[in-house]
Amino acid sequence: VSTTAKPDISREKSAELYEKAKTYFPGGVNSPVRAFKSVYGTPLFIQKGDGCHVWDADGNQFIDFCCSWGPLILGHNNAKVREKVVETIQNGMSFGAPTALENELAELILKNNKYIEKIRFVSSGTEAVMSAIRLARGYTKRDKILKFEGCYHGHSDSLLVKAGSGLVTFGETSSAGVPKSFADETIVVSLNDKEALQKAFKEFKDQIAAVIIEPIPANNGLLLQHKEYLQFLREICTANGTMLIFDEVISGFRVGFEGAAGYYQIQPDIITYGKIIGGGMPVGAYGASAQIMDHISPVGSVYQAGTLSGNPVAMGAGIAQITELLRMGFYRDLNNKAQEFAEAIQRFATARNYKLKVFSIGSIFWFAFTDKDIRTAEDIDPQSMEKFKKMHRELLNRGVYFGPSGYEVGFISSAHTKTDLEKAKRAIFDSLDVVF
Ligand code: PLP
Repeated sequence: VSTTAKPDISREKSAELYEKAKTYFPGGVNSPVRAFKSVYGTPLFIQKGDGCHVWDADGNQFIDFCCSWGPLILGHNNAKVREKVVETIQNGMSFGAPTALENELAELILKNNKYIEKIRFVSSGTEAVMSAIRLARGYTKRDKILKFEGCYHGHSDSLLVKAGSGLVTFGETSSAGVPKSFADETIVVSLNDKEALQKAFKEFKDQIAAVIIEPIPANNGLLLQHKEYLQFLREICTANGTMLIFDEVISGFRVGFEGAAGYYQIQPDIITYGKIIGGGMPVGAYGASAQIMDHISPVGSVYQAGTLSGNPVAMGAGIAQITELLRMGFYRDLNNKAQEFAEAIQRFATARNYKLKVFSIGSIFWFAFTDKDIRTAEDIDPQSMEKFKKMHRELLNRGVYFGPSGYEVGFISSAHTKTDLEKAKRAIFDSLDVVF
């Protein structure tokens, strides 16, 4: 048993780049979590990715479980995706006009996903969710929306709102710059709490346009919900003329081709996608029945547009990646591999009496330093993040890269071979021995 901490990897070049970056970008980054604020050391500047590996500017090599926060379900630099991007780009990068590539990607998705009939491509998950909310408001002619504490839906104004400690709270923003009046339109309740939801529907009768949820909440740890609770959401929304939005920016095309809707067999009114749909390029999408989608401009009166929406190069990457996902047995193989990995780590921790729970679904997993069942954001003890911090450092020193926050989940791609996962497991076991 290795119980000694490993010496730190060299971060000289990354540190140099970070110093420079700090003079250009707030906090040295273009998205906050990248700044390594809650883990040890300066951020690693990544130079290259191939398969399940990434290399940083100092030449350190890692088995990557961040996978660009989810899009890379085929791993880095997948040959089919890369070749399609190169082929597409020969004809130009953007036209701001329709292309056949948009049809091709839409057809691949819609023919194989019975939960939506029409789709609109945008350029990020944030945009997809923002547009879905507008559609729900336009469709229902109501203003309020209801979200859950611990669910992240991108950084648009209405959604950067979190709950206080009460059952139903609203009006408290999570970001400076979000007008109080916007936040007032967002109701926040705890996950897995039917009563809070009933209370909100009673208090704001006929005012709630949409309930939005990550059906597999994966942005505040992995807060797996009971199917029965998600069914309850469907029923209460239907009964109140409220739209149910599944934000599947992470779960879409991840737990299966039809995402969480297919996994739980629940039909939401609108579904949002991102990440995987673009094969690593900036793409988001939202979809619904044709009847609902036809409320969007230029047919309907809900306006939404984008210079780069349906960008041909991004569509090309999406087509190549989605085609791979449709291969027979893709999800079975990926999910089996990921489940074996998660179970092996859980068995190891249990045998050693370590207070660790490995939550997982499909190829998503999360380490919680607890022995409790965790279903809501409030179940997480912030103190436990100290353990993650220690573990993150040990893992980097053993050649394993996780997203730099204990609240973030890990992803396994089809490029993670059994050998890679064996190596990663060893590193995780040794790191856990150091942490505990
Ligand atoms: N919705 C969910 C569930 C997400 O996980 C994210 C990003 O992680 C978003 C929306 C926002 O997507 P993006 O970062 O592409 O804007």
